[in-house]
Amino acid sequence: MPRYTIKEREMIRRIAVIYAVGVAGFIIPYYVNAVSKHNPQCAPEGCESLFIVCPVPSLQYKPDWSDRDEIVDSILGDFSKRIGIDIMPHIVTRTIYTPQEWEKQFNLYMGSGLGLSHRLSQIGALRPKNYDEEYGNLFYVGASTTPGAGLPMAVISAEMVCKRILGE
Ligand SMILES: Cc1cc2nc3c(=O)[nH]c(=O)nc-3n(C[C@H](O)[C@H](O)[C@H](O)COP(=O)(O)OP(=O)(O)OC[C@H]3O[C@@H](n4cnc5c(N)ncnc54)[C@H](O)[C@@H]3O)c2cc1C
Repeated sequence: MPRYTIKEREMIRRIAVIYAVGVAGFIIPYYVNAVSKHNPQCAPEGCESLFIVCPVPSLQYKPDWSDRDEIVDSILGDFSKRIGIDIMPHIVTRTIYTPQEWEKQFNLYMGSGLGLSHRLSQIGALRPKNYDEEYGNLFYVGASTTPGAGLPMAVISAEMVCKRILGE
């Protein structure tokens, strides 16, 4: 499958249009990981396990996810065209997670899987600090504080807050 890159600004513009106007005729950028290729235990013998992720707005901007199947079908349709095989009839089971599930399952504010966004006003020194300004013994850790979102960042965030608590 050919790999290509969409510039961030262009991607944000496209996503905004898709969610504002509807999915018809627009394909949301998505990422596919054939998990079972390297981890065969992730699928029954003779089957594949695909993980597909696409950027979506939080519940603040899109509270209604009744079109979840339509969105997923448009991605699977596009993917099928790209690989030259219609995978739809071969799907045994599929699970869809939207910000509604992220909110319910993990208590994530507005269902945002990546915490606070990384817009200019919320990165680097401008990201909320990992200590409370009022209570000296209250500290914060995770994606929405420094240094930022993503698993490596969340782990670094834990290290940073430990050092702060220990006074290192
Ligand atoms: C679909 C998706 C794909 C992603 N892909 C990647 C990726 O490829 N690479 C990457 O680096 N990052 C990825 N991320 C982001 C990454 O998962 C997060 O940035 C990271 O998990 C944030 O860690 P955290 O500890 O801040 O929060 P979380 O991992 O959300 O942990 C918070 C924990 O607190 C618990 N909790 C919430 N409220 C309470 C409460 N009141 N009492 C007790 N417990 C509570 C929750 O159940 C949860 O277990 C992805 C996220 C999503 C949603």
